[in-house]
Amino acid sequence: MSRSVMRFVPHTIRHEPEAAVTFEAFCTAPGCDETSGSQEAQDTAQDWCLRHTGRTGHDLFRRVVTDHARVTRDE
Ligand SMILES: [Zn+2]
Repeated sequence: MSRSVMRFVPHTIRHEPEAAVTFEAFCTAPGCDETSGSQEAQDTAQDWCLRHTGRTGHDLFRRVVTDHARVTRDE
């Protein structure tokens, strides 16, 4: 029988404010694969939704916001 020793080192994860946050909207209408693309400003993604609804009548969007997180070793 072999034995392994696993040492637990505590870490903390938190939002990294220096890295980009992105916003993207996906149209959920059946058969429509259009998206806003990844945007750095929330307004840009929302404006895309408004224009898409005006052009197509599609009115429901899945929205995705991404951020970056950094893990640091606790002192
Ligand atoms: Zn659509």
